Amino acid sequence: MNVAAYDCDVLVVGLGPVGAVLTALLAERGVAVIALDKDVAPYPMPRAVHFDHEIMRIFQQLGVADQVSQHARDLPDYEFRAADGRVLMNLRPPRQTPSGWGGGYMFHQPGVEAVLRERIAALPNADVRLGQRLDSLAQDAHGVTAQVTTQAGAAALRARYLVGCDGAWSPVREAIGGGLFDYQFDEPWLVVDMQVPPGCNVPAVNIQLCDPARPTTCVLSGPGRHRWEFMLLPGETAEAMLDDAVVHDLIRPWDCGPVRIERKAVYRFHGLVANRWRAGRIMIAGDAAHQTPPFAGQGMCAGIRDAANLAWKLDAVLRGMASDALLQTYQAEREPHVRAAIELAIGMGRVVCTLDRDAAAQRDAAMLAAQAGGAPALPPATPSPFASGCVLAGSVGAGELFPQPTAGEASAPLRMDDRLGDEAVLIARAPIVGTAAGLRVLEVDAQDLAPFRPALLAWLDQHGAEAVLVRPDRYVFGSGAPRLLLDAWAASLNPAALAAEAR
Ligand SMILES: Cc1cc2nc3c(=O)[nH]c(=O)nc-3n(C[C@H](O)[C@H](O)[C@H](O)COP(=O)(O)OP(=O)(O)OC[C@H]3O[C@@H](n4cnc5c(N)ncnc54)[C@H](O)[C@@H]3O)c2cc1C
Repeated sequence: MNVAAYDCDVLVVGLGPVGAVLTALLAERGVAVIALDKDVAPYPMPRAVHFDHEIMRIFQQLGVADQVSQHARDLPDYEFRAADGRVLMNLRPPRQTPSGWGGGYMFHQPGVEAVLRERIAALPNADVRLGQRLDSLAQDAHGVTAQVTTQAGAAALRARYLVGCDGAWSPVREAIGGGLFDYQFDEPWLVVDMQVPPGCNVPAVNIQLCDPARPTTCVLSGPGRHRWEFMLLPGETAEAMLDDAVVHDLIRPWDCGPVRIERKAVYRFHGLVANRWRAGRIMIAGDAAHQTPPFAGQGMCAGIRDAANLAWKLDAVLRGMASDALLQTYQAEREPHVRAAIELAIGMGRVVCTLDRDAAAQRDAAMLAAQAGGAPALPPATPSPFASGCVLAGSVGAGELFPQPTAGEASAPLRMDDRLGDEAVLIARAPIVGTAAGLRVLEVDAQDLAPFRPALLAWLDQHGAEAVLVRPDRYVFGSGAPRLLLDAWAASLNPAALAAEAR
């Protein structure tokens, strides 16, 4: 198969938030991408309202953090309240995060999706094809051929790799097979987005009202918007609950003034994980690979982390800097993160979705006692480091998100990632001889790093390391002696070549 026979390097199927981030990250790196979506406009129904600091760091990498901020607000406290209003648990956003951004953000998803599409439109390597549906696909040793329906009829597209970011019903997941793991959580909820004109009085904190008579979520969305979610009770139907009069009756007790219904939908909240995220040259990401109840606000976040994990690996393989085996680390690294987030959300959901009054009273008493006793409210939301994958296992800090120090004015801080570029980077205390392809080597004393030197030295001191190798997605590959890190990095990217060299 010669090069000219390919329409693109990577075919991204689905241009939701995950497909959009993956397309932008790949195209920024010079990968030729075709991104297609069966629909022309982004999904119109209410979905994500929260993203965390790491996602803002990825938006920063795409150069859109300022534009995204226009559609976002800082994350407030998250209170679980009893039916009588007593606070059962209060989750405060972290004041400091490893990403160098705020503790989290409440946002308007259509606004952010529009920003991402605008970014992609400015990237010459991204070719977006809207209103085109993937019908089937087949792969061979050299690439993937997708059959697509366009307005002009059927067409075939040939790519070296294909990533299905095609959502919960993912045809790509169905094509690669493997089935789904089901956490057996399945609860129906009405979700309503309201516009909040000036003068309305909506809560300033995020609230889970753990009322057995009607479990309810009430949270901020982007500027000028608020979100309510109401659990359906036994016997209630989606059709009846979507009636505007019913929605107004449900909102009335919140006494907010003249808020306006913008959009509404009924969903079943569940926890699912695909067993297989990759088959040869085909991968899945985002809702195609996993779905979570929304109580921890992590579904889209997890998908965007998938995209960041996959983008640099596909790029390294396509540039010939890594063997195809690197792609095998994608699911190994991402699945434990995803499962931890789903299990956290289901834990929260089981607290909230209690309809039995006696059970709710016992829950309230237990949570109030735990709070009075100073027990931690919930397990930490920060994902554990990768236990395996493209990391120097056993070295201190391996698999953690590397911190992004900031410096300068708080209103317009300098951020370290902006000085690092898109490659992996080895940061060392002392000058280093040698490097590796696709890797930048920097001394802590380098001019580019001057504003961040104290923070970098503090990290190296804390980890007792001479150097740290940070992957392009800003996770720590490993720490230790520079030569050891360079050799281990080369071996991780290209295990087959190294094995052959050793023979
Ligand atoms: C009520 C609710 C609240 C939520 N709250 C949060 C939250 O606060 N924070 C958070 O992080 N997440 C949240 N989520 C989850 C989040 O919305 C999803 O995880 C995220 O939108 C999924 O993005 P995606 O790109 O993977 O899939 P989607 O956005 O579903 O995109 C898939 C795309 O693939 C396209 N497609 C499908 N089939 C084909 C085909 N055959 N050919 C071409 N194109 C195709 C579709 O048209 C679609 O555009 C929430 C979800 C719900 C329902």
